[in-house]
Amino acid sequence: MNWSGREDSNLRPPEPHSGTLARLRYVPLTTLRIIVMRDTPVKPEISVKLSDENIIVTMYNSQRGVWLILHFRIISLQDLHKTERNEGSFLKLGIVGLPNVGKSTLFNAITAAGAEASNYPFCTIEPNVGVVEVPDPRLKVLGEMFHSAKITPAVVEFYDIAGLVKGASKGEGLGNKFLANIREASAIVQVVRCFDDPNVVHVEGSVDPLRDIETIELELILSDLEMVERNLVKVEKLAKADRKLAPNLDLLRRVKDVLEAGKLVRTIDLTDEEKNYLHGLNLLSDKPMLYVANIAEDEAGSTELNDYACRVRDHAAKEGAEFVAISAKIEAEIAELDEAEKQEYLEALGLKEAGLDRLISAGYRLLGLISFLTAGEKESRAWTIRRGTLAPQAAGTIHSDFERGFIRAKVVSYDDLIACGSLAEVKAKGLLRSEGKEYEMKDGDVVEFLFNV
Ligand code: GDP
Repeated sequence: MNWSGREDSNLRPPEPHSGTLARLRYVPLTTLRIIVMRDTPVKPEISVKLSDENIIVTMYNSQRGVWLILHFRIISLQDLHKTERNEGSFLKLGIVGLPNVGKSTLFNAITAAGAEASNYPFCTIEPNVGVVEVPDPRLKVLGEMFHSAKITPAVVEFYDIAGLVKGASKGEGLGNKFLANIREASAIVQVVRCFDDPNVVHVEGSVDPLRDIETIELELILSDLEMVERNLVKVEKLAKADRKLAPNLDLLRRVKDVLEAGKLVRTIDLTDEEKNYLHGLNLLSDKPMLYVANIAEDEAGSTELNDYACRVRDHAAKEGAEFVAISAKIEAEIAELDEAEKQEYLEALGLKEAGLDRLISAGYRLLGLISFLTAGEKESRAWTIRRGTLAPQAAGTIHSDFERGFIRAKVVSYDDLIACGSLAEVKAKGLLRSEGKEYEMKDGDVVEFLFNV
């Protein structure tokens, strides 16, 4: 376990303070085991204090005269998964596709349009990660109303992996290593070639979107199968000693059968508990899919889809997946332009919105995400949460202290705020609501959280 603690050489254990709590780790109660290794030269004295919300483990190493205090927050396994996803940007999209379908072109568009990385310290800025801002015109309006010094949109992270060829899951062309890179993604963006161009070689010799999709998905399935088989070996051993693991074992066997039949994990009917367990394995074919039909640049402005793209759209609809048609080449050009030039270019092409923006909106829909807003002199900002998130957990996306010490939220809908013209008017009209722990956040809520830690 990756834990954090604090060493202190006082004779009495120091009182826990908020500095320590800021580095608090979340653990599901059932999985916390404190292990003192038998060959530790000096057995530390350990005391464990348990409250409804926290576990405080205090260890005293008498030889070194140091205290080590560890704080753990107890939460349900379900909340743990939510919390893990809260860390960093919510929307992490992993890009896959065969070679030469336009992934790098799309990825270059993403990095060129990229967000100022310093605004988003949690984003992993690596060569294969592109971060873009979620377009939200409401922020600009809030920024003006509150005279905000800074505007910070929500962001989406894109993970690019090298082209997947047949056999990638078996390590061909380093495929499996690349596949591992997108295991953390919340959804997969599959770029499918839907343009004819004799100058751009197709690895399979011809343009055939459905065959390409099948090739890619088989690689995802094979990679998952390997993962599930490895886990099965482990769980089979453990289940012999621990009967409680029997359901997990059954589930893994069921998943293995489905994968062996060439089907995606996300097609299996699962209970919430089973879903949670499988989430922990980060199986690729379990992730929601967003198909991107990469169409020719001269078709980008057309209202009618070409035949290739239609096939992808129909396939996506059958699977309940999202679909966007874009021209990666045009996107790369748009990304180089400033805002005014971009609007002009889009109008000339007959487009309302850049393809990248449509891609992000589709990602939001696919994952059931919404944004709430905070506004003030310092900053106006959008925060991403899942639909159905309650106020304290939404507060937790800003800071874990906000969630822990949540008192209530002062909320006004964006539309009400705009209709009133100012926060003072909102208050005068009695439209600033005071919401408690059970309040389910709505898209466009403008919020101030009251908390006490
Ligand atoms: P990747 O291997 O999937 O990353 O593919 P690339 O992005 O490197 O694209 C392969 C080739 O296809 C490059 O020469 C691109 O310029 C070209 N390409 C990408 N998108 C389009 C497109 O929409 N139309 C045309 N004609 N060529 C494209």
